[in-house]
Amino acid sequence: VTELDSAALLDKLAAELPDSVLVADPAVVAGFSRDQAALPASGVPLALVRPTETAQVQTVMRFATQHGVPVVARGAGSGLTGGANAVDGCLVLSLVEMNAILDIDTQSMLATVQPGVITADLAAAVAEHGLWYPPDPASYEFSTLGGNVATNAGGLCCVKYGVTRDWVLGLEVVMADGEAVRTGRRTVKGVAGYDLTSLFVGSEGTLGIITEATLRLRPAPGPAATLAAFFPSLVSAGRAVTGIVTSGVPSVLELMDRTTVRAVEEWKRMDLDLDAAALLFACSDLGGDAGRAHVAQMARQCQEAGASLVVETDDPLEARELLAARRLAFPALERLGSVLLDDVGVPVGRIAGFLEEIELVAKERGVLIGTFGHAGDGNMHPTIVFDPDDPSSRARAQAAFEDIARGAVRAGGTITGEHGVGLVKLDYLESEIGSAALGVHALVKRAFDPLGVLNPGKVLRDATTSPGVPHST
Ligand SMILES: Cc1cc2nc3c(=O)[nH]c(=O)nc-3n(C[C@H](O)[C@H](O)[C@H](O)COP(=O)(O)OP(=O)(O)OC[C@H]3O[C@@H](n4cnc5c(N)ncnc54)[C@H](O)[C@@H]3O)c2cc1C
Repeated sequence: VTELDSAALLDKLAAELPDSVLVADPAVVAGFSRDQAALPASGVPLALVRPTETAQVQTVMRFATQHGVPVVARGAGSGLTGGANAVDGCLVLSLVEMNAILDIDTQSMLATVQPGVITADLAAAVAEHGLWYPPDPASYEFSTLGGNVATNAGGLCCVKYGVTRDWVLGLEVVMADGEAVRTGRRTVKGVAGYDLTSLFVGSEGTLGIITEATLRLRPAPGPAATLAAFFPSLVSAGRAVTGIVTSGVPSVLELMDRTTVRAVEEWKRMDLDLDAAALLFACSDLGGDAGRAHVAQMARQCQEAGASLVVETDDPLEARELLAARRLAFPALERLGSVLLDDVGVPVGRIAGFLEEIELVAKERGVLIGTFGHAGDGNMHPTIVFDPDDPSSRARAQAAFEDIARGAVRAGGTITGEHGVGLVKLDYLESEIGSAALGVHALVKRAFDPLGVLNPGKVLRDATTSPGVPHST
């Protein structure tokens, strides 16, 4: 750790970077010190750095390694785990100024992007060529591709098209010591060497700084046919989900529980059935008759599972109206108070039982929990509503959050399906992966970042590799 004081460190760094890149004004820097997670603590950064090119990122990392200064990478700060929260004395490295789409290769269906490109901007740019970049986190209009890669973001279309990892072919990464390395390739297949690309995907800024990504594209699918189905019980909705995923591949399969349906209905009056225990949405993008037949088959499966009402359409406008309720799920719950948006996954066949367990947690902890999520891949977002000014409410919300994470692991699932560990799931990681695998994680971390300057204290709690620690604000 450096023996220089903050002012001397800033002077030294300022001498190595253009004026516009280094921001030391505490009022501005404070705005970049945390992400969207409600509860985890954040520290006070030394400064904000907004590089415009890889060489400047290299300068920052060389400086960080030389002086033992922690670096917290950051995209749009839309994360929900505290992963981009500052630690005391760190440099916040915002990649948003590196926002060029460097190349769209329509013949090989590849895009090469800098990390600060907004996900929706890439989607729009490739759509002009009739191509599609599938990963679609609900935050796609403001999250960055660098953040998506660093968290391995998922979204609505994962059930058919996979997560961000499935679309990343190669990366440029600046390592802790400032060296820039290229991983992966521009070919669809390729197995030369260890799969470093996959290791960096989802590493949450703890192994290296992503400065470029080569992404796969595919031809855009046609408009989807869609259904919405109400169920009288979670068990019947769960039966429908397993029936649907074991007999075909929907392009969307989403679920909202009773509490979420109520929150949406009370806000927007969409004639949703308030007696329903669950509302399911399913789409097929097979196109034309094949798509309509697929949706008709899924509708039959819903009815056989016990649905009280099923509505089908192949009209894109009507489909958008049907899916509007699902898009409103999170904002509708947010209106009810502060929220802890959780992110857990269970094997698809266990969704119904897990949702019932969440209802029990809500009752036992005395909190309101609305659950919605990606039923087709078992990734659920139980959203705990709490009063931030009431310490008891906060504590009960935190306890419910922990119950749910541990319940997911007991059900053979995961503590996080797509948001990452960050700070909020640090305490539960070992319960999922075990102590031996946690030890391997620590070895990997030390190999990539021996001084522990990269996003210390995130993903892994290891004081020996953490020059800075988050403190309460
Ligand atoms: C309303 C809302 C809806 C959301 N919906 C979804 C969803 O459907 N699916 C989903 O997966 N997530 C969702 N999220 C969470 C969040 O948007 C994603 O995790 C997203 O990928 C984060 O991108 P970002 O640019 O905001 O990254 P940040 O929040 O800025 O950073 C996230 C993590 O990545 C690291 N990082 C960022 N950039 C880099 C880089 N260039 N190199 C190395 N590390 C880096 C950071 O250190 C941090 O650990 C949602 C969030 C909100 C607020």
